[in-house]
Amino acid sequence: MQESSAPFRFGNSYAEELPDFYVESAPMAVETPNLLQFNMPLAIELGLGVADLPSQDLAQIFSGQKLLAGSRPLAQAYAGHQFGGFSPQLGDGRGLLLGEVVSPDGCLRDIALKGSGRTAFSRGGDGKAAIGPVLREYLLGEAMYCLGIPTTRALAAVATGESVYRENTLPGAILTRVASSHIRIGTFQFFASQQRWDQVRQLADYAIKRHYPHLSGDNDRYLLFLRAVSERQASLVADWMLIGFIHGVMNTDNMAISGETIDYGPCAYMEAFSTDAVFSSIDQQGRYAYKNQPQMAQWNLTRFAETLLPLIDEDDPERAVPEVEAILNDFTLHYEKQWLAGAQAKLGLENPSLDIDSDKLLVNDWLNLLEIYSVDYTLAWRRLADAAAGNSESLEALFPSSEVFADWLSRWHERIAKQSAVDSTSRMRSVNPIYIPRNHLVEDALAAATNDANLEPFEKLLAVLTHPFDERPELANYAQPASENFTGRYKTFCGT
Ligand code: AMP
Ligand code: MG
Repeated sequence: MQESSAPFRFGNSYAEELPDFYVESAPMAVETPNLLQFNMPLAIELGLGVADLPSQDLAQIFSGQKLLAGSRPLAQAYAGHQFGGFSPQLGDGRGLLLGEVVSPDGCLRDIALKGSGRTAFSRGGDGKAAIGPVLREYLLGEAMYCLGIPTTRALAAVATGESVYRENTLPGAILTRVASSHIRIGTFQFFASQQRWDQVRQLADYAIKRHYPHLSGDNDRYLLFLRAVSERQASLVADWMLIGFIHGVMNTDNMAISGETIDYGPCAYMEAFSTDAVFSSIDQQGRYAYKNQPQMAQWNLTRFAETLLPLIDEDDPERAVPEVEAILNDFTLHYEKQWLAGAQAKLGLENPSLDIDSDKLLVNDWLNLLEIYSVDYTLAWRRLADAAAGNSESLEALFPSSEVFADWLSRWHERIAKQSAVDSTSRMRSVNPIYIPRNHLVEDALAAATNDANLEPFEKLLAVLTHPFDERPELANYAQPASENFTGRYKTFCGT
């Protein structure tokens, strides 16, 4: 793709069409912005025309010091249920939407800063971000994207040269995030909780036009909108579950209407398989534990549905309840269907409708084995692909002995043998990554960047995670789980 040399011009559909949904706000001044990382492939994909700019200019632009044509920085308003409790006003307390761009594929994308200073929604916060959480979001977003899972992405990380005060004094940074939009369930809740239904309708029409345009002219559009959002969330959470990702803070303000993964705060990847896994230091009850994620998404969607009821039936919102409930119940069906199809692909099972019930049993028995023997989730699937090629040694090495899974393995071989003789191994390898963001490697990379201003481990890890399905012998270390000692004590923190 050709890059033009003129930088892009921002559009402002959100600012223009939703005047009540934000407060305009200037990014804070930063004395010595310094470009830590720039996502050139993404810039090119978006047709931004910035490839020729010197890094000092990129640092100025993506710390908000130099505003490009059309930019109208604003802090978006939203509310949200956080760990089950409702906060009527959250909003961008440390973020600003710079504007929107239309990428060459015709999609509208938000370009937003995070860590760019205080706004009208900052409450007691300083509006800033530290380099560790900024790089963490960069890395995990790119990893998610390269795994083929819908996500917001990082365009740039810029060091501010200033200190940010948390438990320790940390170097500050600003992230530039690209998203299909930043409309959250919490954005709907903001006006719904004030019973300002005209605004909720305005937002719904805008979100439909932007994300589900085929529904725009439909009389049942709000109901269909709920169904569409629910199905996208079901697919997204199925993807997370299949890859072993734990979001960690699935509050309604962290759930995007677009169906993209958003807000990489205390997230983590599971190593030894445990359905109870939870890493976030603030999630003491395990509300957002691995196994609870589908149910929590459904809970959030129920809160979303409540904001739409008065739009679905203006005269009598109660009358819309049965239809809405049916959609919310279908979430489970949709989720299970997506999850099973994904699990069948991961097991290398062709003809997924051949014998659904016995496939389901096969998958569940496999997961039970992984849980009983605390097997590394990622490696188990990957090494099963080797077993499909007749080499089960690497798989055996993950279990205490080959006997414990011998029965299961022969059932699986039997199922595979029913298939036409295509290459199960390479199909399995294309859906079972060898490289995921291992928690200890992520932490090491962030510590080097934070403590020693050394970005080399970060860049190496990013390069590895860009090709998660291609195993390379020289990268063996990147495929290994952390020591038990590390994982047993690993806690993540909200990236504020
Ligand atoms: P999060 O937990 O990152 O999803 O953020 C929850 C809410 O807290 C959002 O309204 C954020 O904008 C706000 N917030 C988080 N960190 C800060 C900060 N350092 N300064 C101001 N607001 C913040
Ligand atoms: Mg958030």
